[in-house]
Amino acid sequence: MMCSVEDEFLKNDVFSPLAYLPSILEPKKVVVVGTIVAIVSDKMWYYDGCNYCKSKVEKKFETYDKDDGTSDVRDTQLYQCSNKDCNGKEVFPMSRYTVC
Ligand SMILES: [Zn+2]
Repeated sequence: MMCSVEDEFLKNDVFSPLAYLPSILEPKKVVVVGTIVAIVSDKMWYYDGCNYCKSKVEKKFETYDKDDGTSDVRDTQLYQCSNKDCNGKEVFPMSRYTVC
């Protein structure tokens, strides 16, 4: 018997309350089903996530020495993943939703 995607996620899977998410110790994919009832406008609702592992990325600044002996910051935008186990190369940010 064929199942629709909705049936696969909503009827045939094991459900847990959202509060149990922190108890997951091994990396795994989860589906969070919810309804947005309000948007908190005074807090960031998205973050810059790594294109490989989805952890937060931060902009990295590189300096260089100029011929006149002073230093300057390069114009190129480099990003560094905050996940020390990430093996991503050429990391770039992708906006991801923050759910609280
Ligand atoms: Zn990463």
